[in-house]
Amino acid sequence: MNVSKRFEGKVAIVTGGAQGIGAAISQRLAAEGAAVAVADLTAERGGETVAAIVKDGGRAVAYGADVSKTEDVQSLVAAVVAEFGKIDILVNNAGITRDNLLFKMTDEDWDSVINVNLRSAFLMSRECQKHFVAQKYGKIVSLSSRSALGNRGQANYAASKAGVMGLTATLSIELGPFGVNVNAVAPGYIATAMTDATARRIGLDPEELKKAAAGETPVRRVGYPEDIAATVAFLAADESSFISGQTIQVNGGANR
Ligand code: NAP
Repeated sequence: MNVSKRFEGKVAIVTGGAQGIGAAISQRLAAEGAAVAVADLTAERGGETVAAIVKDGGRAVAYGADVSKTEDVQSLVAAVVAEFGKIDILVNNAGITRDNLLFKMTDEDWDSVINVNLRSAFLMSRECQKHFVAQKYGKIVSLSSRSALGNRGQANYAASKAGVMGLTATLSIELGPFGVNVNAVAPGYIATAMTDATARRIGLDPEELKKAAAGETPVRRVGYPEDIAATVAFLAADESSFISGQTIQVNGGANR
């Protein structure tokens, strides 16, 4: 792929950057010149993403933080600013599923998904905006999902991802006057460990589910982490600075 260098001199934090979509986003931003803080539950988990970036000549450091916890978020952002001197781009990507039909869904299923998928985006955005507002520059891109429109067995997940849309629209209003763009990306079926786990939960081989998902998608393929990374990079770049408060669907046309 021929990439430009839209992020030369910029510093990005990507949560959940150890694997899947977060790893692809980290690698894409680094390939375009950003120094990337790869945050995941432990620094060890982010090591592979960092090694891939460094091997390609980029700059990245792995951090351990549970981004659903206030103290972890405060320490993470302080550590990144201490290392890189500033933050320009925040990608709220960390996410989990705890799927169950409503009558079987536990309090723990509900709370953990809301906390990791939605509370973390609130905590990270609140911590980073201090730096963004002071420097009158910032980009926030959060991961929503097509499931925000409703998906059987995902009341907790759908609510968290619809919450990300509302958070995004509101933060864009509050932070826009300070040079901060706030947007979200709502992927459809993206082939990662998360969708493989969903396949196994419903008793399918991951390849079977991929085939079925591709058949139901107008462009006749599933998505890949690189599809989402390209969209996040566009929204984090200055060329899209008149776009704010939006949730962009990236799903090959599979809107339902
Ligand atoms: P993934 O492969 O499961 O990766 C998620 C990463 O987030 C993992 O490395 C995970 O670490 C980390 N993480 C989980 N809880 C965390 C926490 N509390 N603090 C810090 N990091 C944490 O998922 P993915 O498929 O790449 O999805 C990435 C994002 O895209 C998620 O927000 C997801 O909801 C969204 N999305 C995905 C799809 C899809 O089809 N794959 C579709 C729509 C939206 P552990 O592995 O150690 O838990």
